[in-house]
Amino acid sequence: MLSSRKSLTSRLPKTGETIHGHKFFIGFGGKGANQCVQAARLGAKTSMVCKVGKDSFGNDYIENLKQNDISTEFTYQTKDAATGTASIIVSNEGQNIIVIVAGANLLLNPEDLREAASAISRAKVMICQLEVTPAASLEALRIAHSSGVKTLFNPAPAIADLDPQFYTLSDVFCCNESEAEILTSLEVSSPSDAGKATLVLMERGCQVVIITLGAEGCVMLSQKEPVPKHIPTENVKAVDTTGAGDSFVGALAFYLAYYPNLSLEEMLKRSNFIAAVSVQAIGTQSSYPYKKDLPLDLF
Ligand code: ADP
Repeated sequence: MLSSRKSLTSRLPKTGETIHGHKFFIGFGGKGANQCVQAARLGAKTSMVCKVGKDSFGNDYIENLKQNDISTEFTYQTKDAATGTASIIVSNEGQNIIVIVAGANLLLNPEDLREAASAISRAKVMICQLEVTPAASLEALRIAHSSGVKTLFNPAPAIADLDPQFYTLSDVFCCNESEAEILTSLEVSSPSDAGKATLVLMERGCQVVIITLGAEGCVMLSQKEPVPKHIPTENVKAVDTTGAGDSFVGALAFYLAYYPNLSLEEMLKRSNFIAAVSVQAIGTQSSYPYKKDLPLDLF
């Protein structure tokens, strides 16, 4: 989880320079927490397994999870590292400088996951990403897989030489274009490119592969329907696409858990719709819609 601090400035400062900014925001981010928040806002019962520092950022983060009705029973606090932070400077021209210090995220270890095994094994779906160590993510996937819990793996940020077990332990493997490029070494910039990349990823052992394509929606491939299929999204006026992928993954987890009888294509259409709502407002978690704000036919 990342506590983010964003300053808006007229231009980026040079090395050694101090400048005045004109706006400052404190936000909550990190892929796992964003995904969990989106699923919770749709009505999912959620629990966040992660680690923050024993510091004010960590305390604020735990409060934010609670306000989103997310269980923090397995949100560990450590004295050995600070809460993960993202320090962001954005200029009027939209240029940015971002420094992420992962901090406590990297101290989440396989034993912490084993301690949370009771919660994981009672879940319908477990999502994980790569903002913690691969060892921690793999342990989470193993626990879920061995308990028959559906696994939704989002290999982000992507690493080129991903351990092959990540593919075989993923029921649903969902990444964006740039992550698909890193994982497959193919160029992925169109639905047809994405279709080729899904075939490569599927061969590594996943049951279902989804590649999101921003305004183009997503492409799916499953063992049951082994021909890539493009699912277009809504045509909307995007004002801030930060965190759209996490809104999509959170929504997909919600449908996998609560509407398991829907077709995959229908789940993806609905997840596209929800992520398209999120890009029409500024911010990350602050742009994620609640169930009450969405059309009834999504539920
Ligand atoms: P990431 O945030 O990981 O880069 P994407 O940019 O692929 O992920 O976006 C994830 C999903 O968000 C897309 O599959 C789509 O459903 C939705 N989305 C993103 N950008 C737009 C947009 N400009 N218009 C409509 N939907 C969008």
